[in-house]
Amino acid sequence: MSKLNYKKGTTAVWAGETGHFPNGATTAPIVNSVAFAYTNLDEWYEVATGKSEGHIYSRNTNPTVQVLEEKICQLEGAEAAISFATGMGAISNTLFALLGPGKRVVSIKDTYGGTSRLFLDFLPAYHVDVTLCETISHDEIEAEVAKGCDLLYLETPTNPTLKVIDIERLSAAARKVGAIVVVDNTFGTPINQNPLKLGAHLVVHSATKFLCGHSDAMGGLLCGDKNLVKKVYGFREINGASLQADPAYLILRGMKTLELRIERQNASALKIARYLQTHPAIENVYYPGLETHPGHDIAKRQMSGFGGIMSFTLKGGYENVKTFLQSLKLVHLAASLGSVSTLAGPPRTTSHVELTTEQRALLGIPESLVRYSVGIENVEDLTADLEQALSFL
Ligand SMILES: *Cc1c(COP(=O)(O)O)cnc(C)c1O
Repeated sequence: MSKLNYKKGTTAVWAGETGHFPNGATTAPIVNSVAFAYTNLDEWYEVATGKSEGHIYSRNTNPTVQVLEEKICQLEGAEAAISFATGMGAISNTLFALLGPGKRVVSIKDTYGGTSRLFLDFLPAYHVDVTLCETISHDEIEAEVAKGCDLLYLETPTNPTLKVIDIERLSAAARKVGAIVVVDNTFGTPINQNPLKLGAHLVVHSATKFLCGHSDAMGGLLCGDKNLVKKVYGFREINGASLQADPAYLILRGMKTLELRIERQNASALKIARYLQTHPAIENVYYPGLETHPGHDIAKRQMSGFGGIMSFTLKGGYENVKTFLQSLKLVHLAASLGSVSTLAGPPRTTSHVELTTEQRALLGIPESLVRYSVGIENVEDLTADLEQALSFL
């Protein structure tokens, strides 16, 4: 597929979809076929041995899934991409394929809850040496990387306290020691942030979130350096965490409106964060778009928008969190984020439910924290809803 030279909104619509689909279809067809048939055995052999293009078996490649992989490639400016059944599928396959006994990974304390479990439990059991640094201590991360490491794993902005890490600075440090840099760009989205342009080798996404955007399909994506992507693909082929055509189609459909949704969510989230900052029932607001946010300057440099997610602590602790959340009307109290509808919940029940209270405390996640993922609703309605719920505190 040829690389399109358009701006992101256009790329989101057209990438992977400029060719000819069967029957003149103008939309990528959902190809729910496990296997692909050949009438010529020589041709089949050529495809099966990777000497020519084509599909053999959907655990490996599938025409619908391939369109999605092409779209993320072009949006992130990557050489290659592969997909997974979930975001955790993308993250765990990447780490297990690129690391191994005796290898060293450096990361941050604030990664997504599931990723933290990989670092705290599963990778050490596999004899991978894991060092988790204070999330925004750039000096500490640089010092650990300089001791020698095989992989630097970053996530920015982080979940759920929206800390911001300088991708360019840390990628440069990692490249000096020959380490692979992987960035989870789920919160950033390819509209707001492109880690590969800042020096990362690989980007992972939970496509379940903003890329799909409608909370109706799960998926994971990995893109970047083609040799590294190929290595992870080899692992996934056997590990089997492949994405199916049906969810791939829903994610593709969602991605066509990605820029529209993200621009709206960027604007609404900034307005809401500013409003909450002035409210007497609120203790702290964590949103990288606020000038008072410690990572604001870095965010301004590496992001073109600050995203649709914020978190805040309420005065009065967890009892007030319960009253407040249960009084909101325009919200799903649910795990997940990045949907057209506003979603909120306490990290102790959502992103970090896998961890114990002690582990959460260690990561600096207060029990009075609320994560709020702004949807595409009218921002005045959302603000009025927050106002009425806060009036109960
Ligand atoms: C949700 C999420 C994941 C995991 O994705 P799943 O699709 O739920 O497996 C990873 N990283 C971040 C930042 C997330 O928000």
